Parts: sequence; structure tokens; C-alpha cells
Amino acid sequence: MGYKRVLLKLSGEALMGKQNYGIDSAQLEQYALDIKKIHDKGVEVAIVIGGGNIYRGVQAETSGIDRVQGDYMGMLATVINAMAIQSTLEKHGMYTRLMSGIKMEAVCEPFIRRRAVRHLEKGRVVIFGAGIGNPYFTTDSTASLRAIEVEADVVLKGTRVDGVYTADPEKDPNAVRFEKLSFEEVIRNGYNIMDMTAFTLCQENNVPIIVFDMNKIGNLEKLVDGDEQIGTLIS
Ligand code: UDP
Repeated sequence: MGYKRVLLKLSGEALMGKQNYGIDSAQLEQYALDIKKIHDKGVEVAIVIGGGNIYRGVQAETSGIDRVQGDYMGMLATVINAMAIQSTLEKHGMYTRLMSGIKMEAVCEPFIRRRAVRHLEKGRVVIFGAGIGNPYFTTDSTASLRAIEVEADVVLKGTRVDGVYTADPEKDPNAVRFEKLSFEEVIRNGYNIMDMTAFTLCQENNVPIIVFDMNKIGNLEKLVDGDEQIGTLIS
């Protein structure tokens, strides 16, 4: 398939592994090793990580916290996850840079597009923390936006399901996985892949999305190698 530069989106929830809150170190370790496999092949890797394992803005509304305040709390949660990933990647010998949508000089660089591109060219894994730095957005939108900004070839959306199905595979045994879909087909059929803001950003800027199971060891590498059909490609 020959992807040169990819943007990998990991949800915060995925980091929980078998726990129901926080960061599971075994899960983190698996992700780092899988990322290393593609990084070693020379693929330039940018990562956006969610924060749902720690805090989500929508939670705020039910707990008496102001929505915008809650969104900032969610963004800070993504920085915690990003720092955890950064540390684990470095433990496995990769050079990394953490760039944040909110200024936090003590722990990360501010996001500067040209700098991010330069880091990628130099083979550093770039992690984008704190979303885009604005409330009312998600880390999926961050993934789409940053992918466009750094001119990534594709957004790889790592989930716990191995692609987009005709129905919910956990409920319907006859559900079939799509290998490919167009952006229009996804919208027409209401398949839930990302929020609309995130999705249309990719559509309008011709950035393909691949939804795949990141929890299966080696899947990321297979996807990048392109010998085997992995996940669902939306283009
Ligand atoms: N968030 C935000 N702006 C952004 C990115 C994230 O306000 O640009 C907040 C939002 O409240 C969101 C939370 O951060 O609920 C955590 O991100 P997200 O829910 O996307 O994480 P995931 O579902 O991928 O774990």
C-alpha cells in the first residue's frame, strides 16, 4: 500500500485494556510494540490519543460541571494519555515529540505545523495531545485536522472492532464487514465511524480513513504492509 506518513487515532477507552478506568500498562506496551514495527519500516507516525478513559466533556453536564470546563478537563486527560504513550515509545527506543493544542511548556511543545512536519521527516513519532485545544471538539476531529495539516496519507482509526459492518456484529450474527466504503455510502447509511465534523473534514480534503482493530497484535503492521485486507477503507 506504501503509506509514507500515517496518522494513528487511538481512543482513550482503548487504553483501559481490561480495566474500566485509566491506563492498562499491558495495553500500552502492546500499542508501543505495534507502532515500533511500522516505525522500523520507515513509516512516519503521528498519533492522536483520546481521553475517554479518564474524562469526557459530556460527563460534565451530569455532574454539575460547566460543559466548556469539562471539555478542557477532557483535553487535559488526553495529555496524560499522550505522556504515557510517549514514555512507553521511548522505552522501546523511538524518538518522540509531544505537541499540545494547549500551551504546557513544562511537558510538551506547542503545536506548530511546520515543526510537526519536520519532526516526522526526522523520524520522530509525533503525538498530538490536548486535542485541537478548543472545547466542543473531539479527538476524532483532531485526528482529521492534524492529518490534513501534516499531509498524512491516511487516518488509521484503531478501535476494538475490525471494521465497519452491515449491522452491529456483537448483536447480529449475520453482520458482514465491508472492505471498502465511499464517504457518501457511510453518510447515506448512517454508519457511525467518527463524529460528523471529523468525518467531513476527511471527506472534503480527500484523506482516506481506515477503521481497524488495533487490539489485535500485528494488525497495524499488516495494514501498512498491505498484503492482507485489514479493516474497512473509507475513501
Ligand atoms: N476535547 C475537546 N476538544 C478537542 C479534543 C477533545 O474539548 O479538540 C474534549 C472533549 O470533552 C472530549 C474529551 O476531550 O470528550 C476526550 O476526548 P474524546 O472523547 O475524543 O476521547 P476518546 O473518545 O477518543 O477517548
